[in-house]
Amino acid sequence: MDIGRIGVIGAGQMGNGIAHVMALAGYEVLLTDLNQDALDSAMALIKRNLDRQVSRGLISEADSPATMARIGTTLTLTDLGQTDLVIEAATERETIKDAIFAELVPHLQDHTILTSNTSSISITRLASRTDRPERFMGFHFMNPVPVMQLVELIRGIQTDEATFATCLGIVERIGKTAASAEDFPAFIVNRILMPMINEAVYTLYEGVGNVRSIDQALKLGANHPMGPLELADFIGLDTCLAIMNVLHDGLADTKYRPCPLLTKYVEAGWLGRKTDRGFYDYRGDSPVPTR
Ligand code: NAD
Repeated sequence: MDIGRIGVIGAGQMGNGIAHVMALAGYEVLLTDLNQDALDSAMALIKRNLDRQVSRGLISEADSPATMARIGTTLTLTDLGQTDLVIEAATERETIKDAIFAELVPHLQDHTILTSNTSSISITRLASRTDRPERFMGFHFMNPVPVMQLVELIRGIQTDEATFATCLGIVERIGKTAASAEDFPAFIVNRILMPMINEAVYTLYEGVGNVRSIDQALKLGANHPMGPLELADFIGLDTCLAIMNVLHDGLADTKYRPCPLLTKYVEAGWLGRKTDRGFYDYRGDSPVPTR
């Protein structure tokens, strides 16, 4: 199917990146959020990120204004009814996503494909509450979107082949690579990554190593570009905990139980980089381990 206009719901860290890469590839994008401030800061951030790509020689000077000109914003969710594909990237809470789809669906054109960037919520369940489960799937970008190469494409049990093929075509057009995943808790990347991060927190909790030795061990011993605790801070410890809970609840296996120390950090509000403190303290010139 020919996709020309793409609607993006949520202008947070993922939504602004998705709008950026789609508009850069030539799609017309309509971005929506709950308030004007969120939209204004997303547009300013997209401009800064495009300019950084220009200064690194990754895109031409003309690409930046041309990309910005392809992104429109609206506070009215139902304006996205005129798009050919919608990517929902609002807050990771099922009730929020359900309410968004319930309001939007009556305004959609018949052919429009609905997708969600959710990291963990069941695509099959989200799809079943819309009028088009066969034209619904998971379109899961990695953070930061303009930099990361992978997009996970997740079929719900009802997703049809034409929908999958259309989304795959879009991933190729934006110059990224797709990995196809079935709809089971946390899909592929987080099913493997989060238990590793959780195990690193257990290793810290049990005193096998400290923050620095654990990160150094995985960087130098397993050739990982970032240590697991550093990576957890980058993702957000609340997000890590939420995904571990989805794995634990959805697969009912004790091997997915979240480490009590991870829960404690989240309870303290030490969520990683976004709150300036997690496994490292980022308030000074360079990160200092908190344990
Ligand atoms: P975020 O908190 O940065 O942004 C969410 C945005 O959604 C906010 O701006 C909020 O105002 C907006 N929003 C909330 N309710 C809305 C509504 N009813 N209508 C319109 N906008 C609404 O969150 P994020 O990190 O960008 O995550 C968004 C989605 O992407 C989540 O489903 C998350 O699981 C997924 N995701 C996140 C990451 C990550 O590393 N952060 C990676 C992959 C996928």
